[in-house]
Amino acid sequence: MPGPFHVGDLMPVTVLIGAQWGDEGKGKIIDALAPGLQMVVRYQGGPNAGHTVIVGGKRTVLHQVPTGILHPGIACLISPGVLLDPWELLDELAMLRENGVDLERLTVSPACHLIMPWHRLLDRAREAALDRQAGPGAAIGTTGRGMGPCAMDKAGRRGVRLGDLLDPARRAACEAGLAAANAELESLGAEPLARADLHAALERGAAGLAPHLGDTRPLLHGVLQRGGRVLMEGAQGMMLDLEWGTYPFVTSTHPSAGGACTGGGVPLREVDQVIGIGKAYCTRVGNGPFPTEFEPGAFADGFRTAAGEFGATTGRPRRCGWFDAVAMRYACQLNGFTDLVLTKLDVLDGQPEVKAAVAYELDGRRLSEMPEDLRLLERGPRPIWRTFPGWQGSADARSWNELPQPVLDYLAWLEEDLGTRISWVSNGPERSQLLRRNA
Ligand code: GDP
Repeated sequence: MPGPFHVGDLMPVTVLIGAQWGDEGKGKIIDALAPGLQMVVRYQGGPNAGHTVIVGGKRTVLHQVPTGILHPGIACLISPGVLLDPWELLDELAMLRENGVDLERLTVSPACHLIMPWHRLLDRAREAALDRQAGPGAAIGTTGRGMGPCAMDKAGRRGVRLGDLLDPARRAACEAGLAAANAELESLGAEPLARADLHAALERGAAGLAPHLGDTRPLLHGVLQRGGRVLMEGAQGMMLDLEWGTYPFVTSTHPSAGGACTGGGVPLREVDQVIGIGKAYCTRVGNGPFPTEFEPGAFADGFRTAAGEFGATTGRPRRCGWFDAVAMRYACQLNGFTDLVLTKLDVLDGQPEVKAAVAYELDGRRLSEMPEDLRLLERGPRPIWRTFPGWQGSADARSWNELPQPVLDYLAWLEEDLGTRISWVSNGPERSQLLRRNA
């Protein structure tokens, strides 16, 4: 039986990204696209990502390894834009190996910056200090995986890269940052890292990752030259982009589509398809503005539990709210989506009504576009809602035509408002619950 995606859907390079604040269900969509692909590339983010794939009822969460690894025959790359935690990666590889996944297809670039053990300790200590000094809500709400401190060292031209770790002549230099990190940890009241522990970790990391080291660029361009299809797998979401997101409550890499070119080494002109994944509502993890967030209370708690909105990586409860068409228009404009996938439609089944923010009101003014100074959103704009009739049973639809009429009306309105085609909807977590739009 043909799946919801066909090879013909894909151009030489497809970039697939989260169009909201992350956790949109990218893992499932990439998994569905995989049969038409020769290669999947992770090009940004790091171990803070968590892509969940459910196959035959079995839940697998991938953090750093491209989702394509679950499909035999797909080459998988981790390219220079990824901030790599070698030890987390080793754990992930062990889990995959236990599940019989062939890992020879995975190549990791020597140019990936490494999240050193002290980065993770610093991440947590700095967040705790922000909370202590500036009060609750001041911390970024990071996943505590060391991404921010690693990115700081990368931009500061003192980072450690995989090539350093795997070259015995350069390995000692990997310990150079320890003294400064320990001084900061102690000043923040945190435990320092013992040199012997670091040394042992470096040895283990080097031994474990050596088999996967390789230049990713020639592999990627080799596939393109042979006419193969490549999917660039985004992590997190557009609204967390370091440049265009709700700074400073953002991630340290570039989840917007452009990150695929800088972090993944794919030429702009090879990208023919940009797929944005968005939920039929919104969620956000961590602090930062979220204009359409539900008021705290029984409705918000019940919605979160019913929707299963708890982090795949951290288990943290996600903040939930109605769909934000202002934010999605912004995402469509900045990324030039050729296609949108709307996920988790089934979660809204049974709601008496469904809302979407079409504009905000801020300081008595109507904002129908995102301001470029996104800190204005911290002043708590009031969403201007459009309300739609609710629906039942979208989860049971087996084709687009079987979707309840209120869903079809809602989708038609969204397409019109966003000026972007919704090419697929996901109406449940299973692989089979993905409906392709009719012609
Ligand atoms: P990602 O990081 O964007 O891949 O998203 P996550 O994996 O963190 O979260 C997506 C979660 O939603 C996973 O548990 C998926 O199995 C689940 N999911 C994906 N699509 C749907 C859907 O259409 N409906 C429901 N109910 N769950 C979905």
